Formats: sequence, C-alpha cells, structure tokens
Amino acid sequence: MTFSIYGLAVSRGVAIGRAVLVASGRVDVAHYFVAAHEVPDEIARVRAGRDAVVEEIQRLQGSISRMGPREAPTELAALLDVHLMLLQDEELERGVKHWITDRLYNAEWALTTQLEVISRQFDDMEDPYLRERKADMEQICERVLRAMKGTQTSVVPPVVRGGRKGHQQDLLLDDTVDVPLVLVAHDLSPADMLQFKQSVFAGFITDVGGKTSHTAIVARSMDIPAVVGARTCSQLVRQDDWVIIDGDAGVVIVDPSPIILAEYGFKQRQGELERGRLQRLLHTPAVTMDEERVQLLANIEMPDDAQTALQAGALGVGLFRSEFLFMGRQGKLPGEEEQYLAYRKAVEGMQGLPVTIRTVDVGADKPLDASVHDDAHLNPALGLRAIRWSLADPAMFQTQLRAILRAASHGKVRLLVPMLAHATEIRQTLAHIDHARAQLDSRCVPYGRVELGAMIEIPAAALSLPLFLKHFDFLSIGTNDLIQYTLAIDRADESVAHLYDPLHPAVLRLVADTIVQCRAQGKDVSVCGEMAGDTTFTRLLLGLGLRSFSMHPAQILSVKQEILRSDTRKLQEWAQRVRTADDPAAVLLEEGQS
Ligand code: PEP
Ligand code: MG
Repeated sequence: MTFSIYGLAVSRGVAIGRAVLVASGRVDVAHYFVAAHEVPDEIARVRAGRDAVVEEIQRLQGSISRMGPREAPTELAALLDVHLMLLQDEELERGVKHWITDRLYNAEWALTTQLEVISRQFDDMEDPYLRERKADMEQICERVLRAMKGTQTSVVPPVVRGGRKGHQQDLLLDDTVDVPLVLVAHDLSPADMLQFKQSVFAGFITDVGGKTSHTAIVARSMDIPAVVGARTCSQLVRQDDWVIIDGDAGVVIVDPSPIILAEYGFKQRQGELERGRLQRLLHTPAVTMDEERVQLLANIEMPDDAQTALQAGALGVGLFRSEFLFMGRQGKLPGEEEQYLAYRKAVEGMQGLPVTIRTVDVGADKPLDASVHDDAHLNPALGLRAIRWSLADPAMFQTQLRAILRAASHGKVRLLVPMLAHATEIRQTLAHIDHARAQLDSRCVPYGRVELGAMIEIPAAALSLPLFLKHFDFLSIGTNDLIQYTLAIDRADESVAHLYDPLHPAVLRLVADTIVQCRAQGKDVSVCGEMAGDTTFTRLLLGLGLRSFSMHPAQILSVKQEILRSDTRKLQEWAQRVRTADDPAAVLLEEGQS
C-alpha cells in the first residue's frame, strides 16, 4: 500500500530505489558490491566468521561444563545455548545468501541487512521473552562482523546504481541487482555521511536532523536527494521496500503505485534536463545585469573535493571544513604531516585560486566519532566546540596551525577561525598563530603568508564588528550557526525546525550590518552558510550588498543563474524593505512574483 512520510527537504532532486535500512551503530559497516564470480567467496567469508564465533561459544560452553555445579553460572550457559541456536538459524543463513547472490552485496552488508530483517520480526513478536532475543541476535551478528574483520577479499569501486538516471518502469521489471538503493537510517553522523561520499546510495532518509544539521550539509555536498527529520521513517519502511525520495518537497513515498512512479520518473528526468541546461553557464562570469562582479566560492569537506569545486566553476574555496579530517578516527587525531599533505592537496588542487581553510570545528552535531555523543553536557551546541575546543587543546591547535601555514607556501591560503565571540579568544588565537610561525622559523620549515579571517556566527560577534574588523583581513558569515544562536533553535533538532528562520528580522539585521560594516572598511565579506547556496536568498543577499557567496559546488550554477538575471540597483531598496519588514518572507515572495 502506498503511503507518504513528511520530513525536511534538505537536498534537491528525486531518487527512486529500494530501501536499505541501516542501524545507526552499524553505518560504518562496509557497503560495496562484489563481482558475480566472487559470490562463493563472500558466502564463505560469512560462514567462516560464523564458524569462528560458534567455536568460541563452544569453547566457553566446554569451560563452563568443567566448572563445579556451584560456580557454573546457569544464566550464562543458557545464554550461550541461545546464541548458538541463533547463529545456526536457517533464516539468517538463507537471507545472507540471498543478499550476496541476488544483490551482490558484500558479506558484511548482507549480514547487517538480514539482521535488520530479522530484528523487525522480533519487534513484531507478542511474547516479551522472544522479543528480547533481538538483542542477542544483534550481539551475535556483531561478533560475526568482528570475526570477519580483515578478511575482505576485494572492493569493487562503489557506484551509484541506476543513480539519478533510474527508469522506474525498467526497474520494476529488472528487480534483481541493478537497481538504485536508498539509505534509510534513524540517524547518521556527518562522519558516517562522509563514508558514503562515493557510495552505492542514490539518496538518504533519516528520522532525525534539521535542515542545516551537518548530516544534511554533507548530503547536499554530495548532491543526492535527501530528506531528514522524517520522524519514524526507519520504523515504517521495511528492508527492500520501493521508496521515492522527493528532496525538493521533503517527502518520502513508500511502495508507490505505477502512476506515482511514472510521475516522479518524469520529475526526475526534468531535474536532469535542468541540470544539463545549467551546465551552459559553466564558463560565464558571475556578473549582474548592472555589471557587478560576484565571487562564487565552494564549500568543501575533503581535499579531493577541490576537483569538484573547480569543475563546478568555483573561483576558490570559501570554506574548507577541516574537521572532516579529524572525524571517525577513534580519537586518533591527524598529525602535522598528515594535515599538511591534506591542505597542500586542496591548495594545489585549486591551481592558484584561494583556499580558505577553517580551523577545526568539532563538537555539537559534529562529534569526532559517530559513536561518541556528547551526552555529558546538556547543551553541546553551547559547549566546547570550534575555537573553544582548539584553545582548550593548545598542542592540537598548534599542530593544525603549523600544517596550514606550511600548506600556504604552495598557494593562496586564507585561515578562517570559527565561533569567535570574545576579545580574549581573538587575542589568544592570534598569539597561537604567531607562536606557530615562530616554531616553524625555529625548525627552519618554510611556510607561507596567510590572510586571517573570522567567522561571524555568534550574535555577540555580529554585534561587536569593530573588534573583528580591527584584527582580521576578512569575515565570513556563518548563517547556519548565526540563525541557530540568534533564534535559540538547535539546527539539528527536527522538532523545532519550523522555527529555524533565515528570514527572521533579527537574523537579517545581523547579516546586513556585517556586510555594510565590512564594505565600509574595504574588508572582504562572504556568506558561507547554507543561505549562500539557496537561490531563494540570492537576490536578497545581493540587495544587501553581498558580492561573495560560498556554497556546495553543486549549487554554484543555479546561484549564478540568479545573479545573471539580477540588477543590484533595483534590488537595494527592495532588500531594505525585506530587512525592515515585520514579515520579511511576505515581502520576499512579493518580489519573487513580480
Ligand atoms: C555556518 O555556521 O554557517 C557554517 C558555515 O559553519 P558550519 O555549518 O560548519 O557550522
Ligand atoms: Mg558554523
């Protein structure tokens, strides 16, 4: 039966495919396809993993049976019996075999997929004793996964199967291996998302998350349709269900009828045509009708993204979120050399264009490791994140600063500091930068000149601009956090997402004042939050005087199209009307219609 689930539209486009349910804790399990001739080896890998765990359990059973009746823990013996029985469960074996043989999933992916299927069955059981066996099943699968570690045979380069080009009519006929897959999870951390950058998935759905949560941001950077904040989606959708993700409307359609499939197939093709049309603007300079030149920069997460940025026509990197180099490493942070090589790669990749490297911004919804959530603090977004974290760990900060300064000898680097609010933080940061230079001098290591910039993303910073303008060469407005902190709305919390409003008069005032004051002092200012890549706001930002926008590479051409159609002389007065209106959205819409 067809039904719809409503969430938040975070990454545009339509994806049609079969659901792959992934439990939050198991996202780091490898997902790739094996070649048909590797199927027997893959099945053998799961069997070997399972046999190793069976042996382990039998050994334990043996040692229990050798204990005296007084010391033998009866519960443990019973538990081991259950685990052994579950391990030898036919449905587990049959299912795993099916996913490997019919879908060409790698062994680990097949095992976790079948675990999801069986877990659902346990959830549906009436008997509480049987229902609780779900945890046992999860435990034994974890053990099998551990036993399989290091036995991976080969990794076929991941491909998005069918991808945006899926023709659903054919898909329904060819129901075996070559169908697009969409990932459905309760939650995904930004680090999890990064693993999927080159992944097999054509779209994502998560139960939680806000529009500017970092998970949503990475989905946008991957340019694949995504819906977050879909509440109970991961419980309502079953493994292998057909789903449509409408990333523009924030809707998920489960088990669509042929008519709905045809409609969305059409929409998908329209989207592709539009993308194709936009490609014609690739080499057109971003200049408004009244000859105002606008700088379009890229936001990147990894050094390799520099290539995507160049291909999209970016004139530089306006935001390199360096924290992605620090994530998912089980707490082992990258050293100076590793960071230097990564930054250098991005700098060289941009072929002489400027690269703005932001110092690490972990914390809040960007934990270092997906499994380590900051439950110890009630409000992690207000806690130790970004520059606060760096200043609290001087050795780590120094390592990063040295690496960035060294990379600056290979091209044009701008160093950007996130989340500053206090004069003391500014002083300490600048002292750290001087110290890093002095250390490199003493080691006779070459380094380059960097321009220094601060993110304006805390209202306190936006309200103390003279202080920032005194110390920094450029400012970058982080609207994602500026909105979060101005409106006291957790950007990652879907339950308050309706109140997260980029057009709130208070937000607009802070953004507008920052642009005006920077321009008055002849300092560069850009917006690198999600507002910069959203065409709804392009004209408004132009009217407020912004001439530098930094966004995901995939958004550059649509924003450029808006710029080419704009006349800033006409936008100024209107932008002031929007800014000072009680209901700016209404005024914005009015103009949109005219
Ligand atoms: C922002 O806050 O707008 C920003 C660009 O930084 P991040 O999204 O990484 O917090
Ligand atoms: Mg921010």
